[in-house]
Formats: sequence, C-alpha cells, structure tokens
Amino acid sequence: MSKKPKILIVYTGGTIGMVKDYKTGALKAFDFSQISSKIPELEQLHCEITTISFDEPIDSSNMNVNYYINIAEIIANNYKKFDGFVVLTGSDTMSYTSSAISFMLENLQKSVIFTGSQLPIGDLRTDAKENLITSIQVASTYKNGKPVVQEVGLYFEYKLYRANRTTKINAEQFEAFASMNYPPLAESGVHLNFNNRLLLRSSGKDKKLILRKTLDNNVAILKLFPGITTSVVEAFINIPNIKGIILETYGSGNAPTEKWFIDLLEKAIVKGIHIANVTQCVGGSVILGHYETSSNLKRIGIIDGKDITTETAVAKMMYLLGEKLSEEEFKHYFEISLRGEIN
Ligand code: ASP
Repeated sequence: MSKKPKILIVYTGGTIGMVKDYKTGALKAFDFSQISSKIPELEQLHCEITTISFDEPIDSSNMNVNYYINIAEIIANNYKKFDGFVVLTGSDTMSYTSSAISFMLENLQKSVIFTGSQLPIGDLRTDAKENLITSIQVASTYKNGKPVVQEVGLYFEYKLYRANRTTKINAEQFEAFASMNYPPLAESGVHLNFNNRLLLRSSGKDKKLILRKTLDNNVAILKLFPGITTSVVEAFINIPNIKGIILETYGSGNAPTEKWFIDLLEKAIVKGIHIANVTQCVGGSVILGHYETSSNLKRIGIIDGKDITTETAVAKMMYLLGEKLSEEEFKHYFEISLRGEIN
C-alpha cells in the first residue's frame, strides 16, 4: 500500500478506556477521541486512525445482542472507507462478542481485530498500549494489496487468535485468553509473524460483505454436573420461548445414560428445541458415539458441537436461529465450519 492505511477503532468500553484518578484510586472512563494524548506512540504508526465511541461506554458484563448489532453495523457501514478495524471491548465477554461478530459479517475480507486490556490505559504497568498498537498493526498489514488477516481476530498479550476459538481463562494474568483447539494466527515477538496457512479466506473472492443481524437470543446453557436433578433439566426445556440449548457435557461429549434424562432431552428435540452437545473441557472435542454414554444422545438427534467453544456455540445458535432454517438445515450448518469455528 502506498497510501497510509485507514484504521477505524470502535471503542465500546471496558478497562482499556479507563484512567486512574491517582488521588482517589478510582477508575473512570476517558474520552477515547483523545487516545493519541494517552498513547503518543500511535503517531508513529504508518496509519490514519479514526475512532468511534459508544455514547456511553459499557463494562462488557452489560454486553447484549443490541450492542452486537451496533458494532456490526458500524463496521458494515464503514467497510469500504477503511482498510481495517479494531474493536475495543472489555475482556470479560470479548470471546462471546467477537464470535458473534464473526457470524454477523459474512464474506469478510478485511481485518476486524478485537482487543482490550487487563489494566487501564492510564495505569503505569498497563498492557493496553501493546495490545492496542499491535492490533492496529495487524489490522493494517497488507500484502500484494490485500489484507493479510481477513477475519475476526482477538489480539491479547503477544498473540493473535481466531476470535471464535477463544476463551477467557484468566482474570489476573495479562495472558487472559486461550485458544485450545486452534493455534495462534500470529505471534508478536521481535517481528510480527503470521501463520499464513492458518488464516481464513472466504470462499467467494468478489462476494460482498453481508451483514447478518437477525439474532435470536432465546438460548440457554445447561451445564451438567453429577447429581443434576430432573427438575433442573425440566426447568430448562420448559423455559418460555426457548429455542436452543447448549448442553455442556463431560469429556468427549458424555452424559448420564439414565432414562429420565434422555427422555427429557428427546421430548425437547421433538418439541423443536435445538440442543447442541459441547464439551465442558477447555480443549478437545465431542466425539458422539465414542462412549456408550453419548450413543443415546446421537440416537435422539442431538447436534454434534465437535470442538466448538461454549462462547461460540452460543453465538452460532443465536445466529442460526435468526436464519429460520429447517431442523435438518440447522443441524447441518451447526456441525460444519462457517467461519473457521469448528474443525
Ligand atoms: N470488567 C471489564 C470488562 O469486561 C474487564 C475488562 O475490561 O477486561 O468490561
């Protein structure tokens, strides 16, 4: 690229946008349009940076589907004007949000990099500067006139991950995220090294960006535990308007073989509730039918979540529910990779 790449930073909130009032010790949000006063190093990047902030920045615990739509619309409306995008959110729900955005932006052919920080930008020991600067560098890296990363990524503590493969694993360390089932897309050391063979490419080269924003959040996560009672499972399948349940099973997709349990799930599936089997383990995959304890689940038509994360299963469920698919289509699309989220 001969001209400076144009990067749009979308600031939604989270710790990254806070400064410490050293007199009171309290954290408070600062005006993100003044970002270069906090990080003068941004001037040294060979980029033209524009920022858009939420009117009222949020802690990511308050993230919801309407905010997903805001973020996705900002990117879609500015897609042609900018060469890359950096989205700043709190880290607590970043894996959910970034996964959802990966489904909402179909045929994405530019970088959308999510990042944040464990310490506020105004803190002496902050991790915000490195996370932000490298995310901007990733989003502005072009080769032969094309963005190197053409998907939704999540950059934290020297690693760029495919966003819909991540999980927040640590509330204390700077290395807050892990991607157990897919290696990092890039690592930042002395050089910024991209693992080119791992990068996603949308199949149709000239296909236009499609914004998918009819999400349906009538979903729930049912995590199994030894001793789970009939009334708990019953309560889940009888939630008014429930359309999809993520069933977090043990190990490689195993669940109790007790009749009451299988019967309740079968009843729910017959009623039209989509149930996806996702493992509670942070790494590895569901292998339906591998043990006797998952054969019944296979027989009643449970969706095989394979190695998808819970966060991404929730996002994918909301996205596919919004697409008004038949039961077979729903199962089919859930079980294949749409944005590189499943092996
Ligand atoms: N509670 C904050 C949030 O997720 C933590 C962070 O920014 O990392 O919004």
